[in-house]
Amino acid sequence: MIISDSQRMWFTTQLLSYYKLSGRTLPWRTDSNLYKIWVSEIMLQQTTVKTVIPYYEKFINAFPTVLKLSAASLTEILLLWQGLGYYQRAKNLYLGSRIISEIYQGAMPGTLNEWLKIPGVGLSTASAILAIGTNQYHTILDANVKRVITRFFTISSNNHPSKYNKTLWEVAQKLTSKEEPGDYAQAIMDLGATVCLNRNPECGKCPIHLHCKAYISNSVQNYPEKINRKPKTTYKEVCLLIRNQHNKYLFVRNDKNKLLESLWQPPTFPWPETNKIPTLDSINGLFTLHYPEFRSGKIVTLSKITHDFTHRTNDVYPFCIHTETKKNPTGTWLEIEEWKSIPVSTLYQKVLKAYLSVEQS
Ligand code: SF4
Repeated sequence: MIISDSQRMWFTTQLLSYYKLSGRTLPWRTDSNLYKIWVSEIMLQQTTVKTVIPYYEKFINAFPTVLKLSAASLTEILLLWQGLGYYQRAKNLYLGSRIISEIYQGAMPGTLNEWLKIPGVGLSTASAILAIGTNQYHTILDANVKRVITRFFTISSNNHPSKYNKTLWEVAQKLTSKEEPGDYAQAIMDLGATVCLNRNPECGKCPIHLHCKAYISNSVQNYPEKINRKPKTTYKEVCLLIRNQHNKYLFVRNDKNKLLESLWQPPTFPWPETNKIPTLDSINGLFTLHYPEFRSGKIVTLSKITHDFTHRTNDVYPFCIHTETKKNPTGTWLEIEEWKSIPVSTLYQKVLKAYLSVEQS
């Protein structure tokens, strides 16, 4: 795709002026600390700035340097991350901090190739870290940038996704300021996040609307093209709050579900009877099957909890089972309020909070 020098100059100049006048004040922009920029870039993957800020502040307070992060335990990190979702990101930060402390003795990597070896850091993230933190000339192409450039130039895939992606990288690279790549990266990300919004973009306030092809042709909503995502599936499961004779509850570590790996929760079991709600008999049978050494007692039925992940919805049927046992199954017994001291995903926090509200009423 041909972009003339004057087009490039105009686009870049407009964006840099916009950033100088209206750039957002964000906690990771106060200095050019590569560690803080790395943490913020990982947190911002799939998550909005508004959601990230309180998590980022807590995280940096707890782990102000990469060496502090590498010396922490994964549980401590997950505790601060709970509620932010996509927990693999927290594990990647932890693994990355171990690599940086061992290989680079705590000094942050300074080249693209070094950053690309850090777990969870792809080309756009590595480029953003270096452009923003060191003003090196690197190009970013995140969802915000894609939205701005596909609209500005009305770029379509024409059913050639790999060619489309190559074109987007080429266009993004041509537009990147060689003199101020750091400010440019932040300017185009800010524009995409605050003006060139996915729904209802504020074109009237946009510094580049005069030459934006989608705006001029009244076709903004056609860009970027919608990729045919698979429809969301619904996953049903039974969640058992197993309460022993000492009023303690069984918690297990999730090692099966990639989405929530390493987090703690009450035991759960798939509920394949998609059209049927579990009955007390079926719960009793399920419990006896999985915990034959336990004696089951009273069963309390709780209301169904629904939780949306990006690609699927979870329907959870929670039950509290009173039991007596002398044996210790895999897992740990905790007082009900103690779940607040272990990392638990938002989904099972919802289950536990709902149970507590019934218990206390
Ligand atoms: S004019 Fe509208 S569509 Fe075009 S870049 Fe600006 S906000 Fe986006």
